[in-house]
Amino acid sequence: MSDNGFFDNYGGKYVAEVLRRPLDELEVAFKNAMQDKEFLNELEVIRRDYIGRETPLYFAKTATEILGGAQIYIKLEGLANTGAHKINNAIGQCLLAKRMGKKRIIAETGAGQHGLATAAACAKLGLDCTIYMGEVDVRRQQPNVASMELYGAKVHPVTSGSRTLKDAVNEAMRDWASNPDTTHYVLGSALGPSPFPDIVREFQSVIGREVKKQAEERGIKIGAMVACVGGGSNSIGFFEPFINEKTPRLIGAEAGGIGPGVGENASRMTGNASRDGILQGYKSRFLLDEDGQALPTRSISAGLDYCGIGPQLAALGKSGRVEFTSILDKDALEAVKFFARNEGILFALESAHAGAAAIKIAREIPKDQAVIINMSGRGDKDVFITSPVFRPEQWLEFLKHEVTRLEGGTDIHDAK
Ligand SMILES: *Cc1c(COP(=O)(O)O)cnc(C)c1O
Repeated sequence: MSDNGFFDNYGGKYVAEVLRRPLDELEVAFKNAMQDKEFLNELEVIRRDYIGRETPLYFAKTATEILGGAQIYIKLEGLANTGAHKINNAIGQCLLAKRMGKKRIIAETGAGQHGLATAAACAKLGLDCTIYMGEVDVRRQQPNVASMELYGAKVHPVTSGSRTLKDAVNEAMRDWASNPDTTHYVLGSALGPSPFPDIVREFQSVIGREVKKQAEERGIKIGAMVACVGGGSNSIGFFEPFINEKTPRLIGAEAGGIGPGVGENASRMTGNASRDGILQGYKSRFLLDEDGQALPTRSISAGLDYCGIGPQLAALGKSGRVEFTSILDKDALEAVKFFARNEGILFALESAHAGAAAIKIAREIPKDQAVIINMSGRGDKDVFITSPVFRPEQWLEFLKHEVTRLEGGTDIHDAK
């Protein structure tokens, strides 16, 4: 838990006056809910029957043999309903909103994964759902937009600024400030103004608690835990039960993109444009220019492509409890192939950054210890990004054919 919203120097609640009351109310409601047996029981049942928890802790035998070091284990968070860890937070916050008597949910989304999880949670719990999404992202991420609409959400394209994630956050904040009595804002990662970093970590820490229990039951000695870090929700939830202990090593994998240059990556802890700053309501490490403006970022994985990191992780990075490493796009792609071919497990591109980091350190950890990778999501969603890289000609052919078919040309099924 934060100390009054702060994790050492980072965190806080740097918001306009109009947002103070909804944030304070949220904090009180959250604290009460976490003491309420009925709320916790309802959450528990939804986790079991709807999300599909607990998710397996899988021993990757072939990968372990090939890498020749630590035992490789994978926490299969991608088997959660909707395909990633984001549903843990979306369900928790939507249930909290219901308890607060709010019937309308808003959320921001970048690539669409958080929007999708929130839309699903709202459908399940009977809540009205509006997703703010940059116009550029709406265009790039049509498959996720289609799914959000199937779940009954309204997707609102944001046309201000760079028309991407940070503009969607601003727009969602504006909406919340205008409608605090009817509306809850489901923030998607362990960042933003307090109490969001505490709330999101709490709802994601189910991952780490399960790992701890699974490892204890099976006598697994954990040498290191590795997770990818976008805003930081899957990593902080995975690390949570271990933060105040000396071991295991906790390792966060950031997006190294195509290289170390400005605009070529999203390395907030390890990059050379990394600075302390205050943006979007909280103090943390950001990629900023000398005037304190957000710099462009780049990564093949849309979920790691954000200029800031959650304040608790920034503090844990500074204290040294969490180590950070930067993974290039090409190494993440190699990790996708490695685990698909050797284990029959398709990692999301985000999670493949953690996989690649584990491949790098496997030999540093003794053979009788485990490296546990958090596979935050599965890779089905990435087929539009990985196919153009792995099999460009066939993919282009497929897309051309689809266009022809949809424009009323010949269908493959019509061919005589
Ligand atoms: C959104 C996303 C991430 C990055 O977000 P965090 O808040 O850092 O966890 C990582 N993996 C997957 C599969 C995602 O959808």
